[in-house]
Amino acid sequence: MSEQDHAAQQGFDTLAVHAGAKPDPATGARQVPIYQTTAYQFRDAEHAAKLFGLQEVGYIYSRLTNPTVSALADRITALEGGAGSVCCSSGHAAQILALLPLMGPGLNIVASTRLYGGTVTQFSQTIRRFGWSAKFADLDDEAALRAAIDKDTRAIFVESISNPGGYLTDIPAIAKIADEAGIPLIVDNTLASPYLCRPIEQGATLVVHSMTKYLTGNGTVTGGVVVDSGKFDWSASDKFPSLSQPEPAYHGMKFHETFGPAAFTFFGIAIGLRDLGMTLNPQAAHYTLMGIETLGLRMPRHVENAKTVAEHLSRHDRIASVSYAGLADSPQRERAQRLYPKGAGALFNIQLKGGYDACVRFINALKLFSHVANLGDARSLAIHSASTTHSQLSESQQIAAGAGPDLVRLSIGIEDAADIIADLDQALAAAG
Ligand SMILES: *Cc1c(COP(=O)(O)O)cnc(C)c1O
Repeated sequence: MSEQDHAAQQGFDTLAVHAGAKPDPATGARQVPIYQTTAYQFRDAEHAAKLFGLQEVGYIYSRLTNPTVSALADRITALEGGAGSVCCSSGHAAQILALLPLMGPGLNIVASTRLYGGTVTQFSQTIRRFGWSAKFADLDDEAALRAAIDKDTRAIFVESISNPGGYLTDIPAIAKIADEAGIPLIVDNTLASPYLCRPIEQGATLVVHSMTKYLTGNGTVTGGVVVDSGKFDWSASDKFPSLSQPEPAYHGMKFHETFGPAAFTFFGIAIGLRDLGMTLNPQAAHYTLMGIETLGLRMPRHVENAKTVAEHLSRHDRIASVSYAGLADSPQRERAQRLYPKGAGALFNIQLKGGYDACVRFINALKLFSHVANLGDARSLAIHSASTTHSQLSESQQIAAGAGPDLVRLSIGIEDAADIIADLDQALAAAG
């Protein structure tokens, strides 16, 4: 049995500990070493020429590849059920890295209205400097989504579980629309992690992550990754010339013809990381490998705590609503059970009856919760999105993104649920 076949039969928790790693051949080191090196000695001139010509795969320079980072990429590929991955310096870098092979001046993506605030800004403002643009559509309005796709659209971009509202996306339904349009579906799987959702199994072409969140799981790293399913036929139309036609940025290399299902991954390294330089450093990769080892232990605890806390808050007289899709009376209940059977994540909004001012008093009174612009930490975190992460948006964009002025976003950690609830109760009392 090949190593790959063997790995394909292993369970999620085994892959989380072992995939991509084996004892270091030089020293026997059992844990993945931090290969803190910039460059790698070539065997001889011929070896060097082959590496640069992509005729042989190996290490050249750590802006492109590094053994610690490669171990992490392989582990995430296994957990997401993909064909290959490229790690990079942040979740936002991963989004640009995913779009680079697909896009060009005058082309657009169609993106969900329910996205992380930073992503809305990246897509509505910053990518325009490259001549790219984004159109935003409500994923629950299929007609609007279809109408937004035009001849210049090169991808649909969604979040599996969306930040900040905790809205659950019906990935198979969106994948069908992308397939019919002949374009890839890109899923930001940050809030679900591959433990709660494997978008490729549900029809996604590409998966991106902010590894900063649940994958690392303890607030120590900024990192990102792009996973390719290897299933999209880049040569089926003339829409993706960077992959299907001779690529001038790599002396006329035809990536799809040369690398088949690995084309997107090779492009991401050979051109994306080479020319944009948004590389992950090996120390960050090491921390993320450590974090992933316990992903299968942490996620059920995050979900269980989130459910307990959301149920408590939904009965609280100072709370107008709780957005958690894992609640029995959530409008997303059916979707949660069908597509997210292991849980609806651990991030949701609470709507305070006292509006904006009560939200500010509540945030200031929290003690166990940290008031930070982060999520997916072992610690419970809270933020008032409207005055922070989503403050660049108009009020109508804030409301569309699930970040209205009377909402506080909670990221429920893995502490004792009773202590989390006690802190929320005292802060709600103080908010008046
Ligand atoms: C945090 C986050 C990002 C951005 O990731 P960084 O690592 O902070 O660049 C993108 N998408 C989602 C859903 C996020 O939560």
